[in-house]
Amino acid sequence: MKKTLTKAQIKQAVEEAYAECKDIKGGVNAHYIPYLANVNPDLFGISLTLMDGTVFSVGDTDYKFGIESVSKVLTAILILKQYGAEAVLKQIGADATGLPFNSIFAILLENDHPSTPLVNAGAITACSMVQPQGDSWGKWEAIINNFEALCGSRAEVIDELYRSESDTNFQNRSISWLLKNYNRIYDDVEMSLDLYTRQCSVGITAEQLAICAATIANKGDNPVTKQNVFAAELAPKITTLISSVGFYQHTGDWMYTSGIPAKTGVGGGVLGVMPGLFGVASFAPPLDDAGNSVKAQAAIKSIMNKLGLGVFNGDTVEIVD
Ligand code: GLU
Repeated sequence: MKKTLTKAQIKQAVEEAYAECKDIKGGVNAHYIPYLANVNPDLFGISLTLMDGTVFSVGDTDYKFGIESVSKVLTAILILKQYGAEAVLKQIGADATGLPFNSIFAILLENDHPSTPLVNAGAITACSMVQPQGDSWGKWEAIINNFEALCGSRAEVIDELYRSESDTNFQNRSISWLLKNYNRIYDDVEMSLDLYTRQCSVGITAEQLAICAATIANKGDNPVTKQNVFAAELAPKITTLISSVGFYQHTGDWMYTSGIPAKTGVGGGVLGVMPGLFGVASFAPPLDDAGNSVKAQAAIKSIMNKLGLGVFNGDTVEIVD
């Protein structure tokens, strides 16, 4: 079916989603990272970026929260750029684990494979792959410059969050050394883990994440800065990774009910990609039992339902003024 939406309809859907969801109770802040446990649980924002660079934002969309696992998408893009789709499939994989984000069991089940760059194991491996090899500072520059290109503006590490994560990341240390045992860490182990921890501790706004999502939806061209960030042929690879594991063990339920490939982080952020149409992000700290923001999920679902959109709907959608 051919479907036409106006920008005003989209703006209204964003505003209504905010009004509907802002008083939703339920969920708790991530408690295993002390910094996140203390973030104001009432913060809430939604931002949506269209392919022509129009941005609709409502609520706390310029608050810098911990990007956490959403960072995995950005660094997956970097290694896809540096190595190509085939090598990433071979060296990490593109499979859903069906298990929690920090699962050690998943590594054992997949026969020593990290599965996908969008769970902790694969993301630590991805950090080990970032070039230039062996150069911690050079690798960090590559990671953070890629964040900037995708999000359209600079992002910085929240030092307190970085310290908080570094002091408590025992499970991730176990994952890193287990992967090393299977020859799935392609650079220094402690350096790779540290880069992963640092990228998770980057402060990001919902507006920046929506621009990043829109860059993916726009096949690598940042619609706000107009800069080309990655090759168009990588866009479907990234969206596939997001749709298969973006909500960890609840990814199927999410795709089924929302119709949009999306990636969550325990900082409360969710980034959603509607190829060719828009990127959307929402942020609210309280999480469900799988580590996904309760309000951000509700907000994005509300927008999708209101606009009658879904990535598998088979509609040709045009957005007009
Ligand atoms: N830094 C977090 C961790 O490694 C990220 C997890 C997430 O956001 O899902 O545990």
